[in-house]
This record gives sequence, structure tokens and C-alpha cells, in this order.
Amino acid sequence: MAQYTGYKCSICNKEYLPASVLYACPNCNGNLDVVIDYEYLSHKYQPEDITSRTDFSLWRYLPLLPISDPGGERTPLHHVGWTPLYSPPTLQKSLGLQHFWLKDEGKNPTASFKDRASAVVVSRAREIGAEIIVTASTGNAGAALAGMAAAVSQKAIIFAPKTAPQAKVAQLLVYGAKVILVNGNYDAAFDLTIEAAREFNWYCRNTGYNPFTLEGKKTAAFEIWEQICLELEEHTKPLCIFVSVGDGNIISGLHKGFKELFALGWLKQMPRIFGVQSEKSAAIANAYFANTETIVPVSATTIADSISVDLPRDGVRAVRASRDTGGAYLTVEDDDIIRGISELGACGIFCEPAGSTAYVGLKKAISTGMIFEDDPVVVVNTGNGLKDVRAAMMAVEAPPIIEPDLKSLKSFLHL
Ligand SMILES: *Cc1c(COP(=O)(O)O)cnc(C)c1O
Ligand SMILES: [Zn+2]
Repeated sequence: MAQYTGYKCSICNKEYLPASVLYACPNCNGNLDVVIDYEYLSHKYQPEDITSRTDFSLWRYLPLLPISDPGGERTPLHHVGWTPLYSPPTLQKSLGLQHFWLKDEGKNPTASFKDRASAVVVSRAREIGAEIIVTASTGNAGAALAGMAAAVSQKAIIFAPKTAPQAKVAQLLVYGAKVILVNGNYDAAFDLTIEAAREFNWYCRNTGYNPFTLEGKKTAAFEIWEQICLELEEHTKPLCIFVSVGDGNIISGLHKGFKELFALGWLKQMPRIFGVQSEKSAAIANAYFANTETIVPVSATTIADSISVDLPRDGVRAVRASRDTGGAYLTVEDDDIIRGISELGACGIFCEPAGSTAYVGLKKAISTGMIFEDDPVVVVNTGNGLKDVRAAMMAVEAPPIIEPDLKSLKSFLHL
């Protein structure tokens, strides 16, 4: 467990002691950063102390995390993270990049990036003795919390919009969480969750509200550092990371993870972070383009449900993640997001619309001259395609139905 000295507000910079707050800044309602004592850590550890560990999950980074081991060694809770990195040659060729990777977060136990946050929040809940954890979710955060909580017999309650894709709702139910569908969108579920947590003294996992979600999400940066950055030659250009953005917590988590590695002196060159949003849910990109930290809510309608957000809850840190690293934001069309699903599928990678979004953003960055062939690039696929089968079916043609005999087959094949 890492030395954790308190919290610092990302907006008003006010600092708090560890035991004094649970969620957002009491002064301005801004997101809090968990403050970790790098000075101490840099004396205590060398990179090899991490890279030589034999735990191939996010728990290999326990020395850099402000929580203790939650137990559950032989459960899915201990198999979150250390997701595979692919370099499909066909994709590399079609994109025209010399160095290209795709990190597949769909391989997490509940099939999305959200497992990282939920694993760490479940651990935190055990530390503070919380009996019930609650979250609002478009589906994946809830499925992740439900799954991770079930692994260690923790009670979970999930509020989701009634329009959440069926596969995600099925996951919530199968993991045994108490599921309440809200007659409204994600934003409505979010506000209700906070109110309910206050009223009933539940521990709230909400993204962009509970500071510990970021601590889980930053572990993806640690993995990219181990899996890519340590391998890159000194003289190569900085790594460019493409990730889709809804609330802005994943991109902020990646940013924090890399900042910490840099502060430790273990990372030579900060990666450039590119956030990708659907043009139909682009509140953070809008702020980035307007060169402001003021996030104006939109009325989100994108097919990519995981990034369909009216008012992003981690927008300011998300703008900074790109702005401060020499990255950028891009917006993409829903039609292209759907098309991207089948393009990645043709390489053996099945992603949900939000995963395709990051890939389509990269294509746009290449075609508009933001990314060059010698830029090393990693795209993060944030969720598995089985999460949203309806969207997947929009990306493909329905197969033919024929009579089960050779004659019909021949006539169908025009032979
Ligand atoms: C939650 C989620 C995102 C976006 O993460 P934010 O922290 O909301 O920006 C992207 N893709 C998938 C699959 C997700 O579940
Ligand atoms: Zn504040």
C-alpha cells in the first residue's frame, strides 16, 4: 500500500486529510485527487520492484496504490487488469503506422475498463467498513461493481437508465446486485444515487464523485508504461494514446497514472493523450475546442451508450489530460463508430461502440494530419462487443437463410 497523505481539490486546490472527506470537495464540489507521497515512494522502490512482481493483474501495482489488498485472491477481483496488448499487422498496415497497439480492456472479468475502478472501490469500501456500495451507471460501471462486489460477498445497489443495453442489465442481475432502473437518463440516475447514498448512508462509487475510481483507472497507465513505454527506444517520439471519453474519468485516470510515473522518475517522456467523443455527446471536446475549463452540458444522443453523457462529472481534469500532454480532442460521427466495430472485428477484436470510438478517432487524427506514420500509437478498447449486440448487428449485414440442402446452397453461391 502506498503512502496516502490526503486529498487535493482539482479545482480550488484546497487540501484535506485522509479521514476528513469521502467524495467531492466540500468547498467547491470539484473532483478530489488522492495525494500520494512520491518522494517517499521514489526512495522506497525502483521500477524493478514493480516489473519483477509475478501478480499479473492490477494488484501488481499495490505498492503504488492508496489501498490495501482486498483479499479474494482466487476470485475475479484478483484478475482485473493486465489486459492484453495486440498489434494486428493488417490494422497497422491499413492505418499506415510503424508502431501500433490496441489494449483490450474488454478482456477484464466483467468485460470493460470499469473493472479497474470497481475493484479499487470495493477494496476501499472494505477498509472503511461500508456495508452497501451503490453506483449510478450506463451499464458497465454497474456491471463492474456488481461483479467485483459479488466476488467478495459485498452488497451492491445499481441505478441505471431504463434504456441500458440488455446484456449489461443481465450482468447486473446475474451478479446478484439490487438493480433499480430509472425512468430517465444516466444523469438522472447519477443525481438520485448521490441523494440516496446520503439518505441511507451507502458508500457511493459514482464516477467523477468518488476519488478512488481514478486510483483504479490509473493502473491502465502503469500497464501501458510496462507494456510499451519501457520498450520504446529513447529517441522515439512520445507515445500517443487514444481513448473514448464520456464522464472523463478514464482519461483523467490515465493522465494521473502517467504523472505519477513521471514524478517517480520512472517515465522518460509523458505520452500525448487524445480524447475521442461522439459528436452527439461532446461536452468535454466542446470545452477543449473553446479553450476553456467550463463544461457546458449537452443533450447527449449517441448510440455509444457508455459515453452518452449530458453533464460530464470529470470534465475539467479530462480537458487537462489532453491539453497538458500535447494531445487533443476529436469528435467522430456515430455512423463511423458503427463502421469501426466491423473493421476491428475483421482483425479478431470485438468491441462495443465506445471502444470503436477511440479507433475511429485515431483514423480521423491520421487523415487530418495530427498523427504521422512514425508516431507510436496505442488505442484503448474500453469494452467488449457482447455488451451491446444490437449496435453490433447494425455494423454488419444480416446473414442469408437457405434450405438445408446442397442445391439451395449452390444456387445461393451461384455455382
Ligand atoms: C465508461 C466507459 C467509457 C468512458 O469513460 P469515462 O470515464 O466516462 O470517460 C468508455 N468506454 C466504455 C466501454 C465505458 O464503459
Ligand atoms: Zn474545491
